[in-house]
Amino acid sequence: MNRQDFPILKEQVHGQPLVYLDNAATSQKPQAVLDAIVEAYTHWNSNIHRGVHHLSQVATLKHEEARRAVADFIHARSSDEIIFTKGTTDAINALAFSVGELLLHEGDEIIVSGLEHHSNIVPWQMVCERKKAVLRHIPLREDLSLDIEAFRALLNDKTRLVSVAHVSNVLGTIQPVETIVRLAHERHIPVCIDGAQSVPHMRVDVQALDCDFLAFSGHKMYGPTGIGVLYGKREWLEQLPPHEGGGEMINHVRWSGTTYNELPYKFEAGTPNFVGSYALQKAIEYMQSVGMEAIEAHERELTDYCEAQLSAIDGVHIYAAGQPKAGVISFNVQSQISNHKSQITNLIHPFDIGTLLDQQGVAVRTGHHCAEPLIDALAVPGTVRVSFGLYNDLHDIDLFIQALQKAQMMLS
Ligand code: PMP
Repeated sequence: MNRQDFPILKEQVHGQPLVYLDNAATSQKPQAVLDAIVEAYTHWNSNIHRGVHHLSQVATLKHEEARRAVADFIHARSSDEIIFTKGTTDAINALAFSVGELLLHEGDEIIVSGLEHHSNIVPWQMVCERKKAVLRHIPLREDLSLDIEAFRALLNDKTRLVSVAHVSNVLGTIQPVETIVRLAHERHIPVCIDGAQSVPHMRVDVQALDCDFLAFSGHKMYGPTGIGVLYGKREWLEQLPPHEGGGEMINHVRWSGTTYNELPYKFEAGTPNFVGSYALQKAIEYMQSVGMEAIEAHERELTDYCEAQLSAIDGVHIYAAGQPKAGVISFNVQSQISNHKSQITNLIHPFDIGTLLDQQGVAVRTGHHCAEPLIDALAVPGTVRVSFGLYNDLHDIDLFIQALQKAQMMLS
């Protein structure tokens, strides 16, 4: 699907055609996004919002158009609810700081889940430490799904916010965020969704989900690095204090004190990444031209095909096997050593698999995937993770499976 739009896919790695299966870490960029970056710096680069001159007005217009494009893409009520950030990590750190100031007191509680990326754990740990609050997590069931009954029991009068990943970056599993939002809202507790792994792969509608906040990264959705989004419901953003001070986020600065700008600028201190926002808009337009439903269906086909191929290999263990996934599969491989008496199996270190795959031109990710609590729960040193983008095809998976079988043989 649309492979020719991504120039990097023509690259060779170690003399082999590139098979890029590390999309959960970052996606490749279509020509339209590359062109947008060159266009911005070639034709209208200028600092935004404060300029009376032509280029500054063009740049301002482009940045605000991009904000509207993002708002439409996730179906926000207003573009004032879209705050540009550096990415998901930056968005969650900003939110954690502001929530800490507004809502957290000694003994209060924040809930995350047992399968979060570090960027949806550590900012909450930091703010909990600062405010002497407590970070709780929803435990996992044996099948690695979230224990919703346990979540229900965790919610109490001290809970101030719930923050969960929509799609696990390790397992690819889709979390029941609608149920989580409903249960939290029954107690008037706001919910943040980490959409880093969902927004690139499926239609995410913040009004349908009724989430209070959503964080995601441009670079995982065919856009550039250094741009991301924190969506927040207006009623929350209006109450939350800014997390950073500087230019742009102020109304007036006097020695006697400062008043803050209106939404969304209150949360955008300093010169924003206006080239990044423009290129992100081009990435969104690219995804929309393919169609979010088509992307989702295509990636589901790839995931199902890959999981079926993997499960046919002796010694491959897939995590959360058989559960619906959004373009990510994690697994481990056992070596197959037979002597005349018995078969001995041993876990091959994921790093060794990744290295041998790389030598065959196949890019996958290995290790803890910035989710150490989950990897600890799996009781393994890490996993091998393949993750798909809209440009991958069944041939990529065939090449990957051949390369994996060769790696397993070499390491057995
Ligand atoms: N959350 C999840 C679920 C992720 O997969 C990632 C990226 N691996 C992040 C957060 C962090 O994203 P970024 O590094 O773009 O800030």
